[in-house]
Amino acid sequence: MRWLFADQLGPHFTDDADRILLVESRAVFERRVYHRAKAHLILSALRHRAAELGDRAQFVRSHTYGEALREAEPDECVFPTSRGAQSFVATRGLTMLPARGFVTPIHEFRQWADGRRRLVMEDYYRDYRRRSGVLMDGDRPVGGSWNYDAENREPPPKGESRLPVPDPWWPREDDIDAEVRADLDRWEAEGVRFSGHDGPRRFPVTRQEAMAALEHFIRLRLPTFGRFEDAMLADDDWMSHSLLSVPLNLGLLDPQEVIGAVVAEYDAGRAPLAAVEGFVRQIAGWREWMWQLYWWFPPEYADSNEMHHTEPLPEWFRTLDAEAVTARCLSVVLDRVQRLGWAHHIERLMVLGSWALQRGYDPQELTDWFHGSFVDGYEWVMVGNVVGMSQYADGGRLATKPYTSGGAYIKRMSDFCGTCEYRPDRRVGPQACPLTAGYWAFLDRAAPALRGNRRMAQPLAGLGRLSDLAEVVAQERARGIP
Ligand SMILES: Cc1cc2nc3c(=O)[nH]c(=O)nc-3n(C[C@H](O)[C@H](O)[C@H](O)COP(=O)(O)OP(=O)(O)OC[C@H]3O[C@@H](n4cnc5c(N)ncnc54)[C@H](O)[C@@H]3O)c2cc1C
Ligand code: SF4
Repeated sequence: MRWLFADQLGPHFTDDADRILLVESRAVFERRVYHRAKAHLILSALRHRAAELGDRAQFVRSHTYGEALREAEPDECVFPTSRGAQSFVATRGLTMLPARGFVTPIHEFRQWADGRRRLVMEDYYRDYRRRSGVLMDGDRPVGGSWNYDAENREPPPKGESRLPVPDPWWPREDDIDAEVRADLDRWEAEGVRFSGHDGPRRFPVTRQEAMAALEHFIRLRLPTFGRFEDAMLADDDWMSHSLLSVPLNLGLLDPQEVIGAVVAEYDAGRAPLAAVEGFVRQIAGWREWMWQLYWWFPPEYADSNEMHHTEPLPEWFRTLDAEAVTARCLSVVLDRVQRLGWAHHIERLMVLGSWALQRGYDPQELTDWFHGSFVDGYEWVMVGNVVGMSQYADGGRLATKPYTSGGAYIKRMSDFCGTCEYRPDRRVGPQACPLTAGYWAFLDRAAPALRGNRRMAQPLAGLGRLSDLAEVVAQERARGIP
């Protein structure tokens, strides 16, 4: 009998097994505050899979995993995706099969990484392309270039409040969803705390739904994915994004098949190279990078706090209270997270993450918040994205510089600033943009730690030229900024 966790639900986990054990543990939802939409997705996916497998599955609903294992006796499991789950299965003496659902085996990544002075995503990604032959023409990248980022960073089209692309694929809820919602209502009444809104369900929970979502994206939305990958519009939640992180992270889709399907679209002349390469880079590059580095770095990496940031998350941030926020960019994105448990990459990085970095929020508390608040949040993907990429709490082991900006970037890449009470080009006074003033106050505070970083030389030189720096810093302190 093979024990599969709730993020190991696709056929690539079950095809070579006779009997399957699936466990629904309520204690998981009592450890941190989860978005209700996320709890709904996990429970719905597990219950749908158990129903599909029928007599092949033993489905145990229990308080803890330990209690479940008093009812069932699995022999093996597939490499679990968190260190905690790994330690747990290790104490049970189960045979652990190699990881599935990622493109490079962990031991191959180790061979690649061992002895390198610096680990750079772009180097790994090119190595993957060479090894796999994906988007390669012999030993050269198809189209002559490895990277089409320059074509993929357009601001949103002027005067449009939504991108002119078809809506994403939406699921139709069924009796299992209704049962999950009723159970979550009961759990809440019994004291389990959740955040955000639950419903309607927006993401796939079965293999069939995941395939439908993949095909819909590839046919209708992939061609515009690259161009507007970084753009943000207040009235467009989804832009041209794939919404595939949920089925990928639940293990319903295998990344290799997603890459194959996307590349086939380019081969058939139905999607431009920049969009296809940009998408392959997300899956085979960034997603894989986060997974591999989670295991490559020691466990203490998750506790890194090289910037010495200790500010607790304010109540309104923790509870996704968008209405309490005046800065329009932050309010729009917090509202998305409250309604959907989702926001796109640049909104996570350059609005939520940048705000938190500027204000010196505790990186571990922030990681926990992202983990609970996002429908696709799992420990392996959170640590690198939050501690490394967005908070620079690892002192630059993962990202080459802190990702933060002033309001000018937000103004260029979104329609948020037009109706905001602040002005993106003001750094002092009542209309001073908190991201612009916050950016300079952060740089001033972090300057000693960033001096040796060549990529920060220009911003730090700009900081030195600011005639009103003392005023900006005092103002931001008075506005509650450390
Ligand atoms: C602070 C922060 C927190 C994040 N937390 C998560 C998370 O909990 N879970 C998660 O899957 N992604 C996370 N990401 C990465 C990325 O924002 C999401 O994968 C993406 O927004 C999901 O929406 P999508 O499926 O429409 O993605 P698309 O924009 O359509 O991208 C396609 C796919 O690429 C993959 N991908 C792209 N970038 C990354 C990345 N940096 N890390 C991992 N996968 C990536 C995802 O599988 C995604 O589905 C985070 C990024 C930041 C900056
Ligand atoms: S002016 Fe500043 S605070 Fe307002 S939306 Fe623009 S970047 Fe955000």
